[in-house]
Amino acid sequence: MRIGIIGAGIAGLASAVRMAVQGHEVEVFEANDYPGGKLSQFDLQGYRFDAGPSLFTMPQYVDDLFRLAGEDPLEHFQYDRLDTVCHYFWEDGTRLNAYADPTAFGKEVEDKLGVPADRVHTALSDSAYKYELTGRIFLEKSLHRLSTWTNAKVLKAMLKIPGLDLFTSMNRVNERLLQEPKLVQLFNRFATYNGSNPYKAPGLLSIIPHFEHKIGAYFPRGGMNAITQAIYDLAVRKGVTFHMGQPVDRILVENGRAVGLQVGEAQHHYDRIISNMDVFFTYKKLLPDARHPQLTLKQQKSTSALIFYWGIRHSFEELGLHNIFFSEDYKQEFALLEAGEVYEDPTVYVNISSKCEPGDAPEGHENWFTMINVPYDSGQDWDAIIDRAREQVIQKVGRILGVDLKSLIVCEDILDPRSIESKTRSHLGALYGTSSNNRMAAFMRHANFSNRIRNLYFCGGSVHPGGGIPLCLLSAKIVEDVMEAA
Ligand code: FAD
Repeated sequence: MRIGIIGAGIAGLASAVRMAVQGHEVEVFEANDYPGGKLSQFDLQGYRFDAGPSLFTMPQYVDDLFRLAGEDPLEHFQYDRLDTVCHYFWEDGTRLNAYADPTAFGKEVEDKLGVPADRVHTALSDSAYKYELTGRIFLEKSLHRLSTWTNAKVLKAMLKIPGLDLFTSMNRVNERLLQEPKLVQLFNRFATYNGSNPYKAPGLLSIIPHFEHKIGAYFPRGGMNAITQAIYDLAVRKGVTFHMGQPVDRILVENGRAVGLQVGEAQHHYDRIISNMDVFFTYKKLLPDARHPQLTLKQQKSTSALIFYWGIRHSFEELGLHNIFFSEDYKQEFALLEAGEVYEDPTVYVNISSKCEPGDAPEGHENWFTMINVPYDSGQDWDAIIDRAREQVIQKVGRILGVDLKSLIVCEDILDPRSIESKTRSHLGALYGTSSNNRMAAFMRHANFSNRIRNLYFCGGSVHPGGGIPLCLLSAKIVEDVMEAA
């Protein structure tokens, strides 16, 4: 078959590999002149920056692609497990290292917060329990096919629904299990891994710590962009043709079937189309005449981000690859995000890839990817927000580290919800498609296929099972499964 793919984001690339391995003839159209979408990189005055994602979990889904293609992943893509997952800082001087090893993490919590280690172990076991029960169903299968709901595992999970905390918030679960406010805040932060609000998102989302502490957090050698590069190179080796800098203008539909793509003046005909473009824009821009799934497209968006990429003329021993400087009032921070505003004391995330890849910054310097959560774009005055937030972030991090941070910034670039939308065509600059704040969110995401237009499929962060690299890679697998079963 001939397959046309719209977009070379991570899910588009994974779909291309999967389709090529099946023996199909695959062409990918990408609007940018580089692959990866959000998962890309750039250089600035001698510093290398990963543009978007910085946390890498579930590396096996990347490895799977090489194995499927009959190649040894180790020959093309290497990564290391992190011993310290994150360094946490609070304004009162408390500092805590989240070690990957649960025993070491429990001891650190006991030493720094005076909380019995057992509470951490209980929370991680709860997380593992929920993951074992639901991970396969909610993440690895289409929720929109009857066959998913008629197997024994699913029925077993359904019987255990009360223990899954679907009807209580993630914050409530963490308060119940962890009790101590700083520890609750630390575990609440996992909601932001898919752009959600821990005070609203269902307690089932407390499966996320399991990814980081049990399955592991990793760093790809060469930086996050190495993921994109490795899968892109694999796709090329499998014979996929890439058309870079060529945005698709229309999906051609005849008699209820997707039959091709309009790219500028040219029409290209295919047997199947896979869209890796944000599903909202796929309908609005590429299928303006089709009937749109209004309810699905109206779902609340996930949060966005404001990022300052800073070259820093200093090396900080107390910092690691991932660092968090917590706000004093987390609840208020999320309440304002919900209201479309940015809190004056935001939680700051600093990612420094030069800690693992010294070549990413000049000697004695560091490359800081400094990010705060912000609402998706609803017409806020972003220039004013950026000016204010820049000052607040510099003051906050400088205060906690005891330095004049402003004087250490050598160069700067900025990403905000507007540029996230323009660079990756993600509706309103949302990082993870729709939010997971409501317990029906998983069911309200768009399916990986169209039930109105035959031969049209969807992958990527705006459709099932959601945003984040592992889920995007799984979306490509689900597309393959659904296509095979059709
Ligand atoms: P996208 O990256 O959204 O790319 C879509 C591609 O389609 C783009 O290249 C775009 O140019 C192309 N395209 C769109 N329209 C057209 C068209 N008409 N024609 C041709 N091409 C088109 N995830 C994690 O796992 N860990 C993290 O730490 C993390 N942090 C993040 C931080 C930031 C700042 C951002 C922005 C995201 C982060 N994410 C993280 C989320 C993760 O990056 C995304 O979920 C994932 O990369 C989305 O991949 P995708 O396949 O949906 O495609």
